[in-house]
Amino acid sequence: APATPPTGLVGRLFNRPEAQAAEPRRALDDEMLEELEDMLVQTDLGVETAMRISANIAEGRMGRRMSSTELKELLAAEITRIMTPVARPLPLYSKKPQVVLVVGVNGAGKTTTIGKLASQFKAAGKSVVIAAGDTFRAAAVEQLQIWGERAGVPVMVAAQGSDPASLAFDAMTKAEADGADLLMIDTAGRLQNRQDLMEELAKIVRVIRKKDPDAPHNTLLVLDATTGQNAINQVETFRKLADVSGLVMTKLDGTARGGVLVALADRFGLPIHAIGVGEQIEDLDAFEPEEFARALVG
Ligand code: GDP
Repeated sequence: APATPPTGLVGRLFNRPEAQAAEPRRALDDEMLEELEDMLVQTDLGVETAMRISANIAEGRMGRRMSSTELKELLAAEITRIMTPVARPLPLYSKKPQVVLVVGVNGAGKTTTIGKLASQFKAAGKSVVIAAGDTFRAAAVEQLQIWGERAGVPVMVAAQGSDPASLAFDAMTKAEADGADLLMIDTAGRLQNRQDLMEELAKIVRVIRKKDPDAPHNTLLVLDATTGQNAINQVETFRKLADVSGLVMTKLDGTARGGVLVALADRFGLPIHAIGVGEQIEDLDAFEPEEFARALVG
């Protein structure tokens, strides 16, 4: 009987007749590198990053016969090398309150991520205030109130449709009065009217700077792993709308393996502060480059 075809991203390269021996091997040639590049592009790494990785793997190894295990190791090492510099938890400052502005398209997981982060900070002994800055979406405000209750963190809300900047200002006042360590501000994510959203975000930043010229100390962009390559457009768009300082990628618990994070790291070098791995409050993990690389390579 034929050997079971190797699986995973690299395994598929070895799924061909001449590689069906007990320990399948393939000579590293142009054809194999091209297939590898295609596979990496299909995994959302993007053409440039895929080509750089394959060039690094090829260097000094052309013609060498390698097993899928060897190639997997090489590939995982390349990806780990790209991802290690961006794996950084959200930096905590002694500044009170540290203002964290959270941006991203609707549905990316902003509300959920704020709830999870608030819960983690609370567990670490930090006091947190949340501002439900997406004042136009009643559902988002409600969701945030539920998360606030779960995390045991106060959530500042305003009347539906009221000015998010004025809510942000009030939340800043409360966070200062309470001596809170962190203020997390949710924002709207409607990209249909970018000019409008840009002005809204700029105004929030302007009013909180009246209280603290260094605020916001972090601007977190939340990205949904299931949108694949689209995450690149979202980073480009939101970098024009706000001073994005770091990323959180959600929904890495599903089928999406988040290959686009490699393209993002290679292209923008923005820190990845955390990853969402489920819908529960504890489902937020630190980004681990090696673990990520191994899961991606399969
Ligand atoms: P927002 O519109 O950006 O505030 O997005 P939400 O926080 O409301 O999240 C949108 C949907 O994605 C909700 O159904 C969440 O439960 C879900 N979600 C958020 N983060 C994750 C995650 O890491 N894993 C999974 N499976 N679902 C998530």
